[in-house]
Amino acid sequence: VKRMLNPVRDLANQMGQASDIAASAQRMLDVLDLEEEQSGSGTLPPVEGAVDIDDVTFAYGDGPDVLHGINLHAEPGQHIGIVGTSGAGKSTLMQLLVRLYTPTHGTVRIDGHDLADISSASVRSQVLLVTQEAQLFDGTVTENILFGRPDATEEQVVEAARAVGAHEVISGLKDGYKTRVGERGSRLSVGERQIIALARAMLVDPRVIVLDEAISSVDPDRQRLVFAAIRRLLEGRTAIVVAHWLTLIEDLDQVFVLEDGRIVESGRPVELLTAGGRLTELCQAHEGRTRKNTTGKDNAHV
Ligand code: ADP
Ligand code: MG
Repeated sequence: VKRMLNPVRDLANQMGQASDIAASAQRMLDVLDLEEEQSGSGTLPPVEGAVDIDDVTFAYGDGPDVLHGINLHAEPGQHIGIVGTSGAGKSTLMQLLVRLYTPTHGTVRIDGHDLADISSASVRSQVLLVTQEAQLFDGTVTENILFGRPDATEEQVVEAARAVGAHEVISGLKDGYKTRVGERGSRLSVGERQIIALARAMLVDPRVIVLDEAISSVDPDRQRLVFAAIRRLLEGRTAIVVAHWLTLIEDLDQVFVLEDGRIVESGRPVELLTAGGRLTELCQAHEGRTRKNTTGKDNAHV
């Protein structure tokens, strides 16, 4: 990973007079270095994207178990939703999928390969995690999209942006692809940030994509674009999506409701929503929160 990201470091150094850029990119690299320390050494061969979580239990260090006997299976190309209240263990489960941690019991496998044996760097090229905070550093739009794949060309950056429907949005910014986004993308609207983060993911072109509350709030005027971008990004890949937006959930193949580290409800979204159980309650609660909060400002509640 460190080697792969050297172009990003160089880029940050070149722009070094603007040292806040370097510092901002460095913080992101530090996180990746930390991840690397915890990984195995094997390599993941090219995968189709079958995901198998078998009887997974997990505790942070000496702490209590935060996941208990989780089972979840996705065929290549299937789209799975994870729904649950804050603290249920959703992010922990997503981090196991990208090999940030190893289960204390049970296995996480991609196409049958146990991730415990594989380096997180190798996993990351094919299984990509997009989180709410994964977001932007204070460089240009192009530099931010390139972050996912520093060796890509500018043409490929534009191609990825077009593929998620971000090209028009970016072209409409003050300096187009050369627009400086500000620390954490602060000079952009929430929707603009999200769509650039989705273009970045598109450029990586992973077989498995994991979205952990990547879209918390949405600008009302960008909502349609952002959801369309997500649909395009998910198309043709296995996807595990932590989200409470009904618009997204209705299209998924299966949904799992997580509560206190246990799956308490699972099935096809239409069936669960018709039955009116926990999924319905959680989505309604989410809708209530977002309706009060449609300003598109930085409200991180999901
Ligand atoms: P969710 O994403 O559903 O809100 P998390 O997976 O973040 O839930 O958290 C599940 C549980 O694990 C919570 O009790 C949380 O406090 C705990 N937890 C999360 N991250 C850590 C960590 N790095 N160290 C220790 N405990 C953690
Ligand atoms: Mg979380």
